[in-house]
Amino acid sequence: MHHQNRPLSAAEEERFGPDPVSAFRANLAAVEERIARACERAGRKRASVRLLPITKTVPAPVLRLAHQAGIRHCGENRIQEAEAKRADLADLGMEWSIVGHLQSNKVRHLCGFAREFHALDSLRLADLLNARLEREGRSLDVYIQVNTSGEDSKFGLRPEALMPFVETLERFPRLRPRGLMTLALFSSDMERVRPCFALLRRLRDTAAARNPALQELSMGMSGDFEQAIEEGATVIRVGQAIFGRRPTPDAFYWPASAGAETL
Ligand SMILES: *Cc1c(COP(=O)(O)O)cnc(C)c1O
Repeated sequence: MHHQNRPLSAAEEERFGPDPVSAFRANLAAVEERIARACERAGRKRASVRLLPITKTVPAPVLRLAHQAGIRHCGENRIQEAEAKRADLADLGMEWSIVGHLQSNKVRHLCGFAREFHALDSLRLADLLNARLEREGRSLDVYIQVNTSGEDSKFGLRPEALMPFVETLERFPRLRPRGLMTLALFSSDMERVRPCFALLRRLRDTAAARNPALQELSMGMSGDFEQAIEEGATVIRVGQAIFGRRPTPDAFYWPASAGAETL
């Protein structure tokens, strides 16, 4: 199979600039600097935080350039987009994580290529994933998504539902629960964002007492990852700070987030 570097389209050049490799390198260096400072403030080691680049809406030819800039792992919100790009980029050996809500008819697709899933929020999904993984003879790292903002979102467990969920997950041997994931309140007011991270950390401590494998905290995005690191994040999911602004509004990915500011 031929995987050619096609030239960028005019629209891609408009969005990513004339030299995306240099731009991504510079952005990654700036993100690294912010991570290092947040770790220092929190008295943490840099190695305790994993940067998961979020590549949704970044087209495959641009991801080839991101690979040249050092990106080896792609976090995607939607299965179809992830699968298509993975096929285009098969020669690069990128790793793929799914971080967004999963519909049950996409379980088979996810199990075909994803290394980890950050948005597990129902037993029905756990059951379907486990059955599919069983057939494929593999297992999957999963993060349990918790709704820490109290927003009327249909994604993520309510905090009170977490412990029974953790206990029931023990029935699904193909799932390897690694930790918790959350989307904090969408607000530029960090005094309202930070409590979401602190809550996830407390929930993780409680959950880890039951299942010591639950150590990870997947929290923090471009606008708030420093606060997340200060509150204990071990995985930060960063898109726009690396790849530039997305043309699609966030409401496209989180329909329920509209109106969050009015809470
Ligand atoms: C898009 C997305 C992110 C990254 O958001 P940025 O603002 O681009 O950093 C993080 N987590 C999830 C679940 C996402 O869908």
